[in-house]
Amino acid sequence: MKRTFSIGGIHPADSKISRECRIEPLPVPPVVYISLSQHIGAPAKPIVSVGDKVKVGQPIAEPGGFVSAFVHSSVSGTVKSIAPRKDLAGNPSMTVEIAVEGDEWLEGIDRSDALVTDFPDDGAALLEKIRLSGIVGLGGATFPTHVKLSPPPGKTCERLIINGCECEPYLTSDFRTLLEKGEQVVVGAAIIKHILGDVPCTIGIEDNKPEAIVHIREVIERLKKVSPKFGGIEVMSLMKKYPEGGEKQLIDAVMHRQVRSGGLPIDVGAVVQNVATALAVYDAVQKNKPLIDNSVTVTGECFPRQANLLVRVGTPLSYIIDYLGGVPESAAKVISGGPMMGRAVANLDAATLKGTGALLFLTERQTRRGKESACISCGKCADACPMGLEPFLLNRLARAGDRLDELEKNAVQDCIECGCCLYTCPANIPLLDVIRIAKGDVLRMIKSRK
Ligand code: SF4
Ligand code: SF4
Repeated sequence: MKRTFSIGGIHPADSKISRECRIEPLPVPPVVYISLSQHIGAPAKPIVSVGDKVKVGQPIAEPGGFVSAFVHSSVSGTVKSIAPRKDLAGNPSMTVEIAVEGDEWLEGIDRSDALVTDFPDDGAALLEKIRLSGIVGLGGATFPTHVKLSPPPGKTCERLIINGCECEPYLTSDFRTLLEKGEQVVVGAAIIKHILGDVPCTIGIEDNKPEAIVHIREVIERLKKVSPKFGGIEVMSLMKKYPEGGEKQLIDAVMHRQVRSGGLPIDVGAVVQNVATALAVYDAVQKNKPLIDNSVTVTGECFPRQANLLVRVGTPLSYIIDYLGGVPESAAKVISGGPMMGRAVANLDAATLKGTGALLFLTERQTRRGKESACISCGKCADACPMGLEPFLLNRLARAGDRLDELEKNAVQDCIECGCCLYTCPANIPLLDVIRIAKGDVLRMIKSRK
């Protein structure tokens, strides 16, 4: 039997039409806009001033709290402004604007392609390097990585899981990273594994990426001959099922353990990191390169050129789109991320963040929703929900108004916003939209209670 998670899930067409596109570096834009809210947690605090000259890789902002991260300049040039600017959703976010001059990197960053396999044994020093490099989870959540790699007292990691599922339709940047930077990903995984106490490590990859499964297995075998540090790392082929890459779903698939309602992966002995994060850890520790760029899939049937681009953080979306030929006339919507969990882009002048993994162009026909009708109590949404929730009930409670306590009791906060319920509902009820708003209301209630 193929390994997968045990509750719910759906099988949308994977539409990975950019899977053959190698990762190519996007030319450096003339200006970048680097948000100080690149991660979950407190925004970073600027440590540069208007008029300062900066180099690529230079820190420009420091953590603004325990859950926060350093931010580095992705270009060389002059700081033009530090002011609120509209983000992808159109909300103001404090942003450092840098006019680009040349491409001068901070001394000590190794830009060569040479693979560096050996790394120091001092786990605390490795963790500090990750913190100083501004690494955040690149699988979507952008949680500061150094915090995630520091289990709280009384909790122990028993297994590191590297998430190579990339289960969202259309997205291919992790797949390309596995194929093109497999060695670096495995070295990054070995570094993380070492920090966590040399726990076993599983790299989970869905079986619609057989080339990546074969390649990473070969890489592991090769590296094991170089150093015992690469022992205890395995690849697990997982059944293609959405949302396999959800943290709790992946833990279930790999370890057969369920994270309880409101719990964290570490409660069941798991730490999950994304493939791109493992690569960023390699870059930080082995190459002294902070997180200043990331791979972005640009795709959509209506888009003239499919691509996987290595993009400097803070690059305006309009620059990326113009480079690839401009917005096609038939595009009605641009999504940051995949079609299931991504967010609509409200502002093409916005700039990429560390966690921007894809830009997806959809036509009017692809975004059209059927006319909503009454719930027929078919239960399909509950069958599909990977968190074991009853979306029809959450929808009813949310729309009734003033039922926040009941929404909380029915675990609305456990919703991972995967969209499986919306995808399956024959009555076209906007379940995800309603539940997302209800989650926000319940969160506010919980905070006010505290
Ligand atoms: S969006 Fe939330 S409620 Fe709907 S299926 Fe996903 S986890 Fe369940
Ligand atoms: S899938 Fe739609 S129609 Fe069926 S029970 Fe859920 S909300 Fe009702």
